[in-house]
Amino acid sequence: MAAIDGLPPLRDVIAAHDLRAKKALGQNFLLDLNLTAKIARQAGDLSGCDVLEVGPGPGGLTRGLLAEGARRVLAVEKDARCLPALAEIAAAYPGRLEVIEGDALALDPLAHLTPPIRIVANLPYNVGTELLVRWLTPAVWPPVWDSLTLMFQREVAERIVARPGSKAYGRLAILAQWRCEARIVMDLPPEAFTPPPKIRSAVVHLVARAEPLYPADAAVLSRVVAAAFNQRRKMLRASLKGVAPGMEALLEEVGIAPTSRAEELSVEAFCALARRVATAR
Ligand code: SAM
Repeated sequence: MAAIDGLPPLRDVIAAHDLRAKKALGQNFLLDLNLTAKIARQAGDLSGCDVLEVGPGPGGLTRGLLAEGARRVLAVEKDARCLPALAEIAAAYPGRLEVIEGDALALDPLAHLTPPIRIVANLPYNVGTELLVRWLTPAVWPPVWDSLTLMFQREVAERIVARPGSKAYGRLAILAQWRCEARIVMDLPPEAFTPPPKIRSAVVHLVARAEPLYPADAAVLSRVVAAAFNQRRKMLRASLKGVAPGMEALLEEVGIAPTSRAEELSVEAFCALARRVATAR
């Protein structure tokens, strides 16, 4: 393993601080610093950016981000056992790493950063999806961040980038693609992690669009999409019945066959329907 910095190898860090992985915290660590530097590079040129990293653990990805030139990294970690290891990294990169101990779901760490801001994380999968949805649904758009570079289980990554007509296409795809350009940029086998998880993982890179792809009220779009996919096997005239009165006519007005199903509709069609529903109410 080639060193990307003058700090000890991660295996030694984990042994020195007794950082045995805890399942309850979703801890699957990346120990190959060449790999973490590669993930950091997927976030683009970080030299002029503040980076929010959620769940640094023993600091493999943190070291990748700093070695790749991030102006400043703010790392939020729930597991206090990791703080001494992270303090050693902060000492090696004076003034560039700040660590907050806490639950990323309960904090608003973005408020501590100066734009341009990028978010990079290898998180437990359940927390990752919840944070992704929060980051995609701020009160105002465009958001304070420019891009998200996040590790997910491969199946969730596929749901984020899915196209209409596929099984993976649903609420997450529409939410993500309406407001971002989303791509899978890396694929990782279980052996990349210690301990190895059961499933494959993938890194998704999402770049915030200056404006959503098509106009629509976010709350109405979300309601329409949720109703359509809650009963994804049903025809839209049935699944959307409760969303607005006269739904069948509204669907026809915007050129959608009432007999079609949710997974056949493009993001553009959902937005057209959301606009029509908004004015019908
Ligand atoms: N980034 C490290 C790496 O790539 O090796 C660790 C990744 S591990 C999959 C997930 C990390 O997120 C763990 O260090 C865990 O303690 C931390 N974590 C779990 N839930 C968290 C939460 N709600 N807020 C902040 N950190 C969390």
